[in-house]
Amino acid sequence: IPEIALAGRSNVGKSSFINKLIQRKNLARTSSRPGKTQTLNFYIINDQFHFVDVPGYGYAKVSKTERAKWGEMMDEYFSEREQLRATALIVDIRHEPTDEDCMMYDFLKHYELPVMIVATKLDKIKKSQQQKQIRLIKETLQMDEEDPFIPFSAETGEGKEAAWRTILEFIR
Ligand code: GDP
Repeated sequence: IPEIALAGRSNVGKSSFINKLIQRKNLARTSSRPGKTQTLNFYIINDQFHFVDVPGYGYAKVSKTERAKWGEMMDEYFSEREQLRATALIVDIRHEPTDEDCMMYDFLKHYELPVMIVATKLDKIKKSQQQKQIRLIKETLQMDEEDPFIPFSAETGEGKEAAWRTILEFIR
């Protein structure tokens, strides 16, 4: 079964993204506590594909060794997932992507894995700020033009259709 991985900083809104897409309140757990997602969680969406929630990063200050360990784990995960079709990198539309977001993006590109960027919490910024924030995110990540970019809100459901369309294209 094809897989779509979800990556993003702790607390960025990964679970809310999943829940909104599948219209459930509780299938994917949500929490405002950072660092809860420590293990891989598989969410069976339907017979078409699985979401794979990879551990959130950017949680507290981590040492070089811990960072290396995280890198190793990610390496193992991403280099051996034969079913992995794409990774949705979730960022907060309000903020400039962090170094870790950029590292994650580069990492996925390094493995030549398709990436879609989901800029969530769209409801938290003014409409007049949207384009500016989108540009900032694209520039900071040095994003490839062909990568899908989806402004999204788990609150209003904006971007939901676009997210589904993109996911279905990846798993087709
Ligand atoms: P995760 O740790 O990445 O899985 O993050 P969660 O999905 O648990 O979300 C973290 C916090 O952000 C929760 O309090 C959510 O209610 C909130 N949140 C997530 N997405 C959105 C969104 O699109 N809009 C708003 N306003 N809040 C959101």
